[in-house]
Amino acid sequence: MPAQPPAMRIGLAANRAHQDDGQSGLVKLLSGADAAITTHIKPHLIIVGRTLDAIRSHGLLPGYEAIERFPYGREGGLMMLVSRVVDPDPARALDAVIYLIDPVDPSSTFPEALALKRQCIIHSKPFLCTQIGAREWFELEAIDRGAPPDASLDYLFDFSQESIALVAHDALKTNMLELAEKHFAVLDQFKMRCATGTTGGLLNKLAQKIKGEQAGRNWVTPFRSGPLGGDAQIAELILNRQCRRILFLEDPHVARQHEADIQLLDRAARTVTDYAICRSDVGGGDRWLGLMGARARMINA
Ligand code: PGA
Repeated sequence: MPAQPPAMRIGLAANRAHQDDGQSGLVKLLSGADAAITTHIKPHLIIVGRTLDAIRSHGLLPGYEAIERFPYGREGGLMMLVSRVVDPDPARALDAVIYLIDPVDPSSTFPEALALKRQCIIHSKPFLCTQIGAREWFELEAIDRGAPPDASLDYLFDFSQESIALVAHDALKTNMLELAEKHFAVLDQFKMRCATGTTGGLLNKLAQKIKGEQAGRNWVTPFRSGPLGGDAQIAELILNRQCRRILFLEDPHVARQHEADIQLLDRAARTVTDYAICRSDVGGGDRWLGLMGARARMINA
């Protein structure tokens, strides 16, 4: 028998508004993804104290034992998750982080919250901060392990009704073009693609190369360049539920003069936690687009 791969290790935390009531993001996520988690992915879950208290009080993941408790946020639980993202020891390192963020909760702007996302990007680990983004991720990881698709999520993968925003900071524009070329057939199925100005210009050139000069001309709708406000324009689409997905290849190694705009875009996605899905790193984006394509092919199979 082939050796079992080691269990995936997932860090989990949620801001208070996503924990408390019976319809909260945490409840929707873990009740919806219960089979994906407990039957197919079987991860080791490292859960910050109050989030774990909420899981227990809602009776979520009943009987699931691969859970490790981290301290409460005020005692450093979230800071410890950051350390585990960067840990070189595979027996301690996290493979992904789910942090359901309430954008009006001050703790979502604490240094550890910002560092958690930044280190996930640097170490190419998924950072999932919206309820539906985490739900989609569990679904894709489960089907990759042979699970049947969850038909209640089919609507996410009817790309003829979906839009996606594509943004890349300068050092990552080549990566964006490589990803777009590799996954062109998937991206091409979307109802609408949009981008910040410079990224969009490059993507339209790529589309013209692939589809022909005329057909590729308006493949993506370019907004203003990021530093001139393009992120805010995309945020409006997200808030109006006209663009669900965002692939934003962020450069975590430079000071960004339009940091506020980048945070604004993040915040917009978190405001519509049951709608928006964002990914920020190259490796995760590659896997995401590949699995999204595979999941879409299952709808009419
Ligand atoms: P750009 O914007 O595509 O116009 O370069 C991206 C950014 O730097 O935010």
